[in-house]
Amino acid sequence: MNPAGVYPPPTTPAPNAFGNQPAYAAPGVYPPPTAPAPNAFGNQPAYAAPAMHHPLNAAVPTMPMGVPGYEGMGSGGFVPPPAPTQPAPAPPGPVPENWSIPSLTEEEAREALENFVSEQCCYGSDPVKEAVITNMEPCNTFRYRLETFTESRNAEQAQKPHEGEVADFYTQPAPQPWEVQATPTKLFTDEIKEIRVPFTSTVQDCNNCQAKGKISCKKCNGKGKSVCSLCNGNGRRDDGDCPKCSASGKERCGICDGTGKKECKTCDGKCRLLSYIKLKVEWTNHVDSQMVQDQSGLKPDCLQSVTGKELFQNSGFMVYPLLGFPNPAISDTSERLIRESQSKFAQNSRILQQRQTVELIPVTKVKYQWKSNDCSFSVYGSERKVQADDYPDTCACCVIL
Ligand SMILES: [Zn+2]
Ligand SMILES: [Zn+2]
Ligand SMILES: [Zn+2]
Repeated sequence: MNPAGVYPPPTTPAPNAFGNQPAYAAPGVYPPPTAPAPNAFGNQPAYAAPAMHHPLNAAVPTMPMGVPGYEGMGSGGFVPPPAPTQPAPAPPGPVPENWSIPSLTEEEAREALENFVSEQCCYGSDPVKEAVITNMEPCNTFRYRLETFTESRNAEQAQKPHEGEVADFYTQPAPQPWEVQATPTKLFTDEIKEIRVPFTSTVQDCNNCQAKGKISCKKCNGKGKSVCSLCNGNGRRDDGDCPKCSASGKERCGICDGTGKKECKTCDGKCRLLSYIKLKVEWTNHVDSQMVQDQSGLKPDCLQSVTGKELFQNSGFMVYPLLGFPNPAISDTSERLIRESQSKFAQNSRILQQRQTVELIPVTKVKYQWKSNDCSFSVYGSERKVQADDYPDTCACCVIL
């Protein structure tokens, strides 16, 4: 029996959800290629297992019946994915040629600084106009991003008002958690789908209302009338009959509209409940992003907040490390993050797709003089954001803020 909730994916080889599986397999190179995999999203034989009518599991009261393949289901209901698979990785595409971008002109640098200064609460703009730029140094930085799109599955016992669904439990063996068909709407986009597992549904009377569909109103104890709010039940007010209740001291119960009954919320008035196994399928896009060859001196958070120029991108069932790139640090980063993604995600989920992107983030360090002060600032990202920690004309209030 599994720990509550966890259903590992079947030990069968892995699905290639999107048919993108390259035939190419470099022997001896990580990840080791294995036998081709069945496809979770396409043509898979439905429920091949012969019907095995296990005895009902009376020990689990929340589960009205034992369903083969769901025995470990408890609170939480996480279903571990099938054993990790190592299909042939997608080889990288052609290496891009344009590895640097034109550096900034003096004018552009000054303009970026001007915009920056105008956004600060009370920086003086004199240095912008009067600064003498003494040096501009391009300092290009790369950002490597690996996206890993995974699927995980949880099963739990669920109930809903019975609205005519067929009680199909045991009419056929229920599909195993990872046999139930589910396809994400869009790759690399988070999504959750809840699916009623076929052949797990039973219908019972609603206990909350004893299958009547209505319960007694608590406000008026089922009488349909409550104490008059104007005369507090006296029937009289000042020196005459209470006008609100015509001296009866009672008024219609506003909660049940005078009927004394309310619709049962458990069954929505349907009198019966459908019990079934609910499979929650969750697709998650995990983004791992790392700056490479960062000599800018800027904070990583600053660099991560800007966009750059995309130099390379590929995707596949599992991507292949970017070996042979002009910049070895990018190769190393890609190799490491891809390897880590295996151990991080393959255990509790299925990796459906990966996508890797290399971006060039332009950074220019600018040195300038103003009134015999030597200062500097950096312009970074396509947005030309500026960091100018030693800007010479600031005021105290900004520092405090
Ligand atoms: Zn009254
Ligand atoms: Zn009532
Ligand atoms: Zn009910």
